[in-house]
Amino acid sequence: MTFQDLQTITLNNGKKVQVHTGLFINNEFVAGSSGKAITTVNPTTEEPIVDVQEASEADVDKAVAAAKECFHKVWRKMAAPERGQIIYKLADLIDQHAEELAELEAIDNGKAKQVAQDEDIAGSSGCYRYFAGWADKIHGKTIDTSYDKLCYTIHEPVGVVGAVIPWNYPMMMAAWKFAPALAAGNCIVLKSSELTPLSILKFAELTVEAGFPPGVINIVTGYGHICGNHLTNHPDVSKIAFTGSTATGRKIMASASDSNLKKVQLELGGKSPQIVCADADLVEAVKWCVAGIFNNHGQNCNAGSRIYVHESVYDKFVNDFKVAAEQIKVGDPFEKDTFQGPQVSKGQFDKIMAYIESGKKEGARLVTGGERHGDKGYFIKPTVFADCKQDMTIVKEEIFGPVVAISSFKTLEEAIEKANDTTYGLAGGVFSRDVSTCLRVSAELKAGTVWVNCYDVFDQSTPFGGYKQSGFGKELGKYALQEYINVKTIKILIDP
Ligand code: NAD
Repeated sequence: MTFQDLQTITLNNGKKVQVHTGLFINNEFVAGSSGKAITTVNPTTEEPIVDVQEASEADVDKAVAAAKECFHKVWRKMAAPERGQIIYKLADLIDQHAEELAELEAIDNGKAKQVAQDEDIAGSSGCYRYFAGWADKIHGKTIDTSYDKLCYTIHEPVGVVGAVIPWNYPMMMAAWKFAPALAAGNCIVLKSSELTPLSILKFAELTVEAGFPPGVINIVTGYGHICGNHLTNHPDVSKIAFTGSTATGRKIMASASDSNLKKVQLELGGKSPQIVCADADLVEAVKWCVAGIFNNHGQNCNAGSRIYVHESVYDKFVNDFKVAAEQIKVGDPFEKDTFQGPQVSKGQFDKIMAYIESGKKEGARLVTGGERHGDKGYFIKPTVFADCKQDMTIVKEEIFGPVVAISSFKTLEEAIEKANDTTYGLAGGVFSRDVSTCLRVSAELKAGTVWVNCYDVFDQSTPFGGYKQSGFGKELGKYALQEYINVKTIKILIDP
């Protein structure tokens, strides 16, 4: 069958839109070499949306070759302010197409369309804009060593970056990698998640309009164990930026080690704790903790999935939390006031339901939820377990769904010990009116980000990344640029 890139799909609200289904290499949408396709599914209806091309290893080779050639011949030679201007233009185009991009996130991922528009798409354009400003401000230093030497450093792009992203924030996870990598002068091959290819293929179209030369940005849609694995093993890829599970992160490190010892940056899973002290403003604490776990249907790497509450306010907290959780509007992502849509896939739905069953079996108290919502689509009711113990599966393992485990503590030492009793270290939170308590807990939590009297608050300028098995390397902020440059030292002997 001849390949036809543009296909018409029907959104949940009946509106028809056109989507790209080809691989994006050298600024063109092309057929994959295997002749195979991946069917992407609407998690609200459980119906197929459209087939996109499945990238083979040969397709990855083509994309990497395009990026490599462009890097050497065009992109690294372009003046930095000019690069910055193209990235600014891309940010503007994302804003102009915000509604369409949000609709694609909503149909493909299941996230509420309005939330996607206000957070994912606005967050993506903001990220490109932030790093566009850095493009002409990346430079080395001169270092005084002795009178007869000139010693300086230059910050060079690493070359071809391979990016592998998950399905929970397709546009935003791509932006967190593309934006700093492009500002620093790299070319990229990105592998999107097989579950959510549609928004990033629309984004690809916008990069042509923004003026990126062919080969700077390449996007392959394919399976992790085939094209993801090939990308991370590729000898012409100088760095891998990965967001996804800890299990896949381990494989990627091994691939990088076995191939060319490429640089690796890993943003992995989490099981983040929130500590609510006796003196906390309980109204605020409930509000932030509810958002901390239920934002994006619990499909957040930094989800505050374990909550430790001081015993003196425990019963009130659990009760108020239950009331707030039951007010969450679960439904079709295209309905205006929906906060929580379906989970992304049948696989994720089944996995989360199995965790809920384990919580019940292992003796946690089910406060609310604990079952599917409706009878069609991968919807799960916001689920609250209380009286949880540290050795329960729902306390130890990342669920990546709308399920929270609450328990009580007597002393701050106990709360900190329980909070740190995890292999992960992505984020944590503390709620207290006492500044010393807040500072002490912030210092003691073994996590890359600590939110105080708030949770899940992001800024383009503040770095984000894990401790322990939540990975290493930083995204966002000036720190992210370091991940995409090589520092070269130059020493010149001055003729006396
Ligand atoms: P996943 O690890 O299953 O997949 C992530 C990506 O890796 C996908 O594109 C997949 O195709 C690809 N992949 C799978 N096997 C591969 C291999 N062998 N080689 C190369 N690529 C491979 O994760 P997921 O289910 O898509 O996403 C959920 C996970 O992502 C959760 O654990 C979550 O915590 C994590 N996450 C972390 C952050 C963060 O910033 N730390 C942000 C979002 C999600």
